Amino acid sequence: MTIKKDVIIIGAGPAGLAAAIEVKKNGIDDVLVIERELYAGGILNQCIHDGFGVIKFGEALTGPEYAYRYINEAKKYEVEILTGTMVVKITPDRKVIVINPKGMIVYSAGSVILAMGCRERSRGAISIPGTRPAGIFTAGVAQHFVNLKNIMMGKRIIILGSGDIGLIMARRLTLEGAEVIAVLEKLPYTSGLPRNITQCLEDYEIPLLLKHTIVNIEGKERLKSVTIAKVDDIGNVVSGTSKKIECDTLILSVGLIPENEISIDCDRLRLNRVNDSDSSKQPTLGN
Ligand SMILES: Cc1cc2nc3c(=O)[nH]c(=O)nc-3n(C[C@H](O)[C@H](O)[C@H](O)COP(=O)(O)OP(=O)(O)OC[C@H]3O[C@@H](n4cnc5c(N)ncnc54)[C@H](O)[C@@H]3O)c2cc1C
Repeated sequence: MTIKKDVIIIGAGPAGLAAAIEVKKNGIDDVLVIERELYAGGILNQCIHDGFGVIKFGEALTGPEYAYRYINEAKKYEVEILTGTMVVKITPDRKVIVINPKGMIVYSAGSVILAMGCRERSRGAISIPGTRPAGIFTAGVAQHFVNLKNIMMGKRIIILGSGDIGLIMARRLTLEGAEVIAVLEKLPYTSGLPRNITQCLEDYEIPLLLKHTIVNIEGKERLKSVTIAKVDDIGNVVSGTSKKIECDTLILSVGLIPENEISIDCDRLRLNRVNDSDSSKQPTLGN
């Protein structure tokens, strides 16, 4: 059986909820927001630091407080939110296929709004050489463990990448009793906000090593050390500058990528169909 909806929104983070509220305000009532997590609010549920909402609401809110404003507003507009449900496929004719503990449901939507957020680049994406011990986390995973599960991941920590999430975690892990040995950044400047450099590193005397990277990861079961080195202006490792640093945890804060696999799939199907109808004129996607 296929269930019809005027609008389906994928993702109940602030973007998905804001879109749902606008759709409702514009007179479309049959809106469904689908969220794979058990709670609406998106990634901001784990961002317990403040600074959200300064532009939008004129006050500094924590991530959960900011998300709660949207959840509340969505409730006011009686937006239907289906949590604990993962969208696994969208077809070019806007069928939205989802799974949850009850099984599979197929929706048919007049319009689909994609609001799936983003995720972090991992070690695999940046190909750091070395062994594969435990103790290597992305900053967001570390944030999830510490802020939502009350689990510490280590005592002597190196952070690779000066993105905001890594800077915020440098402060958070210091406050939780870890020694953050240094934040390494391969560029000659940081990618995080100046405010976070001051409030998360300088205020806690955490060294920031610009034009540095990790050239090897060591340890069998648990991370034992990393070897760091300087890089030149075009990112090549400068020979003779490597140095081994003992640590039990490496946190990666090396960029975000859009969470868009299901939309790519949908687009590929659409393009294939167009290609089938006139293969001489239409572009093709690579393999
Ligand atoms: C770890 C991390 C920390 C961040 N910290 C900050 C910060 O401190 N400050 C800041 O300004 N920005 C931060 N960001 C950026 C953040 O993505 C945005 O600020 C904001 O959360 C984006 O809102 P959104 O609604 O687009 O996405 P999200 O809040 O990520 O919401 C997307 C939602 O879509 C759901 N979803 C995804 N795919 C599916 C699917 N197939 N089926 C069903 N549901 C799905 C997800 O579970 C999620 O709840 C952070 C991002 C990450 C990854």
